[in-house]
Amino acid sequence: MNIILLGPPGAGKGTQSSRLVEHRGMKQLSTGDMLRAAVKAGTPVGLKAKSVMDAGELVSDEIVSELIDAELAAMGPDTGAIFDGYPRTEVQAQILDELLAKHDRSLDHVIELAVDEDALVERITGRFSCANCGTLYHDTANPPVQEGVCDNCGSTEFKRRPDDNEETVRTRMQEYRAKTAPILPGYEARGIVTRVDGMASIDEVTASIDAILG
Ligand code: ADP
Ligand code: AMP
Repeated sequence: MNIILLGPPGAGKGTQSSRLVEHRGMKQLSTGDMLRAAVKAGTPVGLKAKSVMDAGELVSDEIVSELIDAELAAMGPDTGAIFDGYPRTEVQAQILDELLAKHDRSLDHVIELAVDEDALVERITGRFSCANCGTLYHDTANPPVQEGVCDNCGSTEFKRRPDDNEETVRTRMQEYRAKTAPILPGYEARGIVTRVDGMASIDEVTASIDAILG
C-alpha cells in the first residue's frame, strides 16, 4: 500500500506517519526529514537547501524528487510507502506518478488532513522532538509523560526546528495554499482522496486513518 498524507505544515503528517510505521511496518518518506539530514551532514544538497528551508520556501522539484527516487529504489517491494510532505507542487505530483510506475508501485490513498489555519501556528511554535530518536511532541497538546524525558527512548535532549517560528510558518502556509493545495483536484478526479478532520485528537485522527486503510 502506498499513501500520501497531505496537509499544511503542522497538520499532523509526521505524527500520524510514525504511528503507521509502528503499527503497519510502512516506511515514512518525509522529504523534510531527508533535507534536514542533508543540511546536518553538510552535503551539497543540504548546502543548497538550507537557506530556502530557513525562509519557509520550497526547495526545487528536482532535488526533492531525486531524494524520493533514491528512497524508493532502496525499499523492499513489499514495504508500503507513506509520502509525508511530498508531493508539494503539481510538477512533483506528476513526477511522483512517474516514479511510482518506475518502481512498480501505485497510489492507493491520498489522505487530506484538514486543519484550521489559526491552530497551525500554535501547533508549529509548540512543536519539539527528541534529539536522539526524533519522537515528536508538543508543549501542550502532546508533551512527554514525564517532563523532560522522551517516552520512547528515555533521552533528556530535545530540539526545535529553526523554521518553526511564527514568521516562517506564515510563508510556509502561503506556499501550501499557492502551490500544494492545487494538486488535490487531480487526485480527487481519480477518486482516491479522503478528508480527515485533523483538528481531532491525535488518537482520533489515527483511528480515522485506520478506518480508511482497513
Ligand atoms: P506536520 O508533519 O504535518 O508538519 P506534525 O506531525 O509535526 O505536523 O505536528 C505538528 C505539531 O502538532 C507537533 O508538535 C504535534 O505533536 C502536534 N500535533 C499533531 N497532531 C495533533 C493533533 N491531532 N492535535 C494536537 N496536536 C497535534
Ligand atoms: P517539512 O518538514 O515537510 O515541514 O518541510 C520543511 C521544509 O523543507 C519546507 O518548508 C521546504 O523548505 C522543504 N521541503 C520539504 N519537502 C519539500 C518538497 N516536497 N518540496 C519542496 N520543498 C520541500
